[in-house]
Amino acid sequence: MTSPASDSSAPRHFLREWIDSDLASGRVSRVVTRFPPEPNGYLHIGHAKAVCVDFGMAAACGGECHLRMDDTNPVKEDPAYTRAIQEDVRWLGFEWAGPLRRASDYFETMYGLAEKLIRAGKAYVCELPQEEWKNYRGVPTAPGRPSPYRDRPAEESLDLFHRMRAGEFPDGSKVLRAKLDMASPNLHLRDPVLYRILHAEHPNAPGWNVYPMYDFAHPIEDAIEGVTHSMCTLEFEVHRPLYDWVIRECGLFESRQREFARLELAYTVMSKRRLLEMVSLGLVRGWDDPRMPTLAGLRRRGVPPEAIRAFCEAIGVTKYDSLTDPALLDHCIRDVLNRTAPRAMAVFDPLPVRLENPEDLPAAVRAVNNPEDPEGGGSRDVPFAADLFIEREDFAEIPPPKFKRLVPGGNVRLRHAGFLTCTAVEKDAAGRVTGLVGRFSPMEAAVKVKATIHWVARESAQKAEVRLYDRLFTVPEPCADKERDYKEFFNKDSEKIVSAWIEPSLAAAEPGGRFQFERIGYFSVDKDAKPGAPVFNRIATLKDSK
Ligand code: ATP
Ligand code: MG
Repeated sequence: MTSPASDSSAPRHFLREWIDSDLASGRVSRVVTRFPPEPNGYLHIGHAKAVCVDFGMAAACGGECHLRMDDTNPVKEDPAYTRAIQEDVRWLGFEWAGPLRRASDYFETMYGLAEKLIRAGKAYVCELPQEEWKNYRGVPTAPGRPSPYRDRPAEESLDLFHRMRAGEFPDGSKVLRAKLDMASPNLHLRDPVLYRILHAEHPNAPGWNVYPMYDFAHPIEDAIEGVTHSMCTLEFEVHRPLYDWVIRECGLFESRQREFARLELAYTVMSKRRLLEMVSLGLVRGWDDPRMPTLAGLRRRGVPPEAIRAFCEAIGVTKYDSLTDPALLDHCIRDVLNRTAPRAMAVFDPLPVRLENPEDLPAAVRAVNNPEDPEGGGSRDVPFAADLFIEREDFAEIPPPKFKRLVPGGNVRLRHAGFLTCTAVEKDAAGRVTGLVGRFSPMEAAVKVKATIHWVARESAQKAEVRLYDRLFTVPEPCADKERDYKEFFNKDSEKIVSAWIEPSLAAAEPGGRFQFERIGYFSVDKDAKPGAPVFNRIATLKDSK
């Protein structure tokens, strides 16, 4: 029999070591993990890292991963986010075991466990006004002061807790606190709040006026589901003693937590609060704006999920915070698209060329869709004609040093078609080049050239809107300076709308289709595209593009 931890191709890191050693020691026989987003916004690429870790580790160790909404704050949460999260997880390529789970499914159990803690003298109802909390809690270097309600009889706390649930008291007037250690250097252990009053209707659990805090709810959710390995980001490391305390005092299944570094991506923001603000202020087209670091945005831009998984693997899993350059994501995107994206031709800044030997021209030329995959990628016919567009920058009347493309009297290869010799240059009164006249020779002519350029045939080409995307912010860490608002660093040029002349095959492409525009970059068909009105997003430039 093979051991459950037999997938040796999966990445090895300290979390993998942790899980493997638990399997080897027999602490667990089957691995259960979970991905627990709060449905208060869309998933972003940071979440993708957590998804890859949670689902990836379960898969690598022959276990299962749950998807659970951490829906303990109905004020900020929305079922629309829950739907979007499920779509995003599936799009990334993962499927959860069993049904979609919700923290709110366990509210009754959590409440019962809170009553149990009160009866055992481990929790009490505290009525300190909120502005007093800080004073009592103190600072790490000196012990805090106990709340005057700390030693009230359990019966009294129980009665108040029941009345809190029944809705008798206003928001913020009372909380349930754990009776832990007011002298602990870890402030999270100084009688942390377990429940608060919130007069807000929960879409999945009507009738509640009290809601559990994360530190109380999360370990219970994990334990109820039999989660063996609960992985989260580093900021929760200081909460771990509380996680363990809840499990122990409530007498639950022994879930365990370990922490890894968050993904921080340069030139963007990742907090849901800020992403929401940019959407609300209309700085971007929405949560799925192709510039957004959300999975919905990356998907709309045309980033393949495979590239995001490769990126998450490339950044690795560590215990140290670091800032990742988006160039790494671009690299992963190009790597996938170079293999998979069909090529096509589009001219952005057209210079007309009229061929003076129309009798020698083919009606169409055959083009391989993907030279990286000549068999599987297939081929297409691209219409050819006497009137072409080439890229203005591919011609120079007075060539700069080392210019290898078209010059007066010179030759260049026309991609897939043949050769072009420039025989005349047309100009307007101001001396600006308005067009070229040329001669066409077929491929068999084997003219000696130093460059190949792309083109489209004027009559059959279609005009498309192309949205060129760049970094959202002008500085690597827009939130680093606490004195300044991150929006000051918004890159006003993060979206530039231009037009391009595209070959006819591109005009018929469906939204979501991804292409390499030869010599230019990778583009996808945006969902705004309509028949006869194509719209493309730039996914990434070509590595060697200028
Ligand atoms: P944000 O701070 O962006 O609002 P959050 O941490 O509040 O996000 P949750 O929905 O609570 O978002 O996160 C779900 C899971 O995703 C958690 O386990 C969290 O640790 C993880 N996660 C969130 N952001 C990142 C990130 N940048 N890198 C890695 N994991 C992340
Ligand atoms: Mg959170």
